[in-house]
Order: sequence, then C-alpha cells, then structure tokens
Amino acid sequence: MRFWRAVASPTLLDLDRSELGEKLAEWGEPRFRADQIWHAVYREHASSYSAISPLPRALRERVGERLAFDPLGPVDRVASADGMTTKVLFSLPDQETIETVLMRYESRSTVCVSTQVGCPIACPFCATGRAGFKRDLTVGEIVSQILHFARELGEEGERLTNVVYMGMGEPLLNYDATLRSIRILNDPDGFGLRARGFTISTAGIVPGIDRLAGEDLQVNLAVSLHAGNDRLRNLLVPTNRRYLLSALIHACRTYVERTHRRVSFEVALIDGVNDSLVHAREIAALLDGLLCHVNLIPLNPVDGSPFRPSPRARREVFAKELRQAGVPTTLRLGRGIEVQAGCGQLRGRETAAPHDSRDRAEPSL
Ligand code: SAH
Repeated sequence: MRFWRAVASPTLLDLDRSELGEKLAEWGEPRFRADQIWHAVYREHASSYSAISPLPRALRERVGERLAFDPLGPVDRVASADGMTTKVLFSLPDQETIETVLMRYESRSTVCVSTQVGCPIACPFCATGRAGFKRDLTVGEIVSQILHFARELGEEGERLTNVVYMGMGEPLLNYDATLRSIRILNDPDGFGLRARGFTISTAGIVPGIDRLAGEDLQVNLAVSLHAGNDRLRNLLVPTNRRYLLSALIHACRTYVERTHRRVSFEVALIDGVNDSLVHAREIAALLDGLLCHVNLIPLNPVDGSPFRPSPRARREVFAKELRQAGVPTTLRLGRGIEVQAGCGQLRGRETAAPHDSRDRAEPSL
C-alpha cells in the first residue's frame, strides 16, 4: 500500500479547487482556466478533457499530458430486473477492481461507493471482508465513482441526491480520502451536493468517529452494530475486540452532543445468531436515551457463508421490541440482491449472477 501511494500520480479528480488553481498557475495558466475546468467537470459532468469546450484544444492537450483525467474505467455493468439498482465494476490503475452501486427511488437516487479495495474488518457474513484487504482508494478513485453515476443519471435528466459510503471497505480507516472526497463534491461552486446528502458508514472505528465529530460538516453517520453484547459482536464485527461497545457508544453519544445529529445503526438480522428478543433488548438498553435510528436489514446471501437471513416474522418481532423500548426503528427490504449488489455482497469481480444460474442468489425474502 505504501508502494502504491508513492507511485500513484494524482489525477484531476484528486484535486480540490484551490489545488487545481495552483497546478495551472505552476504551468503558467491563468486562474480562470481552473474555474472553467472545475465547472465543466463538476457542473456539466464532462467525462474527459476533450469534452471541456471552453478550453482551447492545445491547452486541453497540454493539461491532459500532465494530469490524467480519471483513474477509473468501467469494465462491467449489471442491472436488476426492475432497472432500479445498477452495479458497475471499475478497474483501477494498478489492475485492482472495485464495485459501486446506484439505487434509484421515486424521488431520490443514491450511489453506494467503495473506499478501499477489499476490507480489513473481515466481518464473517460480508463478501468484501471475506476477500481480504488490498489497499485504500485515492480521493480521485472515490470521486470518480460518484461522477460516473451522476453522468449516467444526467443523461436521463435525473440528479444524484445522496452518496453513501457503504460499498467496499471501511471509510473511517481511509479517513482523509473519504473526507476530501466529500469536501470536493460538497463545493457549492462545483458539484454542490449538500452535506446532509452524504452518509459515512463505519464498523465502529472510535478514533474516526471522534475525528468526524470535530469536523464542521453536517454529514450523516451510520454505525454497523449487528449485536448489543461484546461477545457476539466480537465475532460478527471483529474490530469490536479493539473498540468495545462501551467505547463505541460513548463515541456516538459524544458525536450526537457535538453535532446534534442523529446516528443511525444498522443491524443485519441473521437466523439464530442475533435475531432473538434477548438480542433486541440488549440493543434497546445500549441505545437508551441516544438520539438515533435503527435500520433492520435482512442478511443478504453471500457465497460460502453459513449465515442465513432471519425470517420475516422474527424481524418484525425484533422491530416491535425496539420500538416499544422507544428506539425508532425501520424494517428495510433487501435491494439488488439478484445482481449481488446488496449490502455485503460487493467483492470487486465480475458478477456471474445474470449469466450463470449456479451463482444466482435467491431474490431476497
Ligand atoms: N465498513 C463499513 C462500510 C461498509 S457498509 C461498515 O461496516 O459500516 C456495508 C454494510 O453492509 C455494513 O452495515 C455491513 O455490516 C453490512 N453487511 C455486510 N454484509 C452483509 C450481508 N451479507 N447482508 C446484509 N448486510 C451486510
């Protein structure tokens, strides 16, 4: 990873607005050229220098020789039968691959981005974690995933409204690149996505949550909880051995005090593992008095994993128990499962599902 950092040269999408201005100034170009490029890329969603028409052709070529435009290339694309979920496989400059998912809803469109190649947390029920960890993504590699889908939507006259850092990897272990990508896309003179449109999801990296609480940024925080006792959570989310629930919840309480923002907690319900009434009560006790919201998601099937989704009836009982204890709770449905674009199904290689029935997951519960 250190080697990668040392050799990777920045692309246009790695730079914020002032860095782009400095680069062009170094090359003897006036400031307004940087503004033209910024506007073309982040407002008009240009996908290459040749699409930036206000720039003279010779300048486009000069800049292109010195600064690559985009570090990612799409190599595969699958869509769910209803067309509402799309997953794209991207190749990176070092031949690694990552996946990104677009989810359309009636009144919004959300892109689920990856922040690392693989994931070091290694939750046993998640395909990404099972495949190991390779490296952090660069800022440009994160920004590029989002621009790709903003362009796709733009061609259909639609807009991207939300970005969730819930793809491959642990965003708070790639903190700087994650935050820089948000600041770049939040720029009101550029892409202009409002801070509240971003959600960072974490397995519970306490120092990262503390740092995020100190940023002056109204982004959403989601915590992948999955269990309300340390013994079970140590197994399901191995980073819990380092950051125990007491420390995690303390960090969340501090986060709420400082930001006045509600934290959301994700719980993937697994048959016979974390879905009993006792488990629900443990979570309710843990979250008592905290400004929060719980999302209960059915476990998505992952090849080779022994874990099975909790039956619907049990999920409903679980939700009821939390609500009765005063914890706002939503029972969510799986999405994009048949194209393996659901939570925990991203693994960074071409999807066999639509072409090969042996590999096809059941279309959710
Ligand atoms: N590492 C971060 C970001 C990944 S978000 C985090 O853990 O929050 C991906 C979400 O999908 C997490 O909430 C994760 O726990 C959940 N997930 C992983 N595998 C899953 C599966 N098989 N079914 C449902 N959710 C899963």
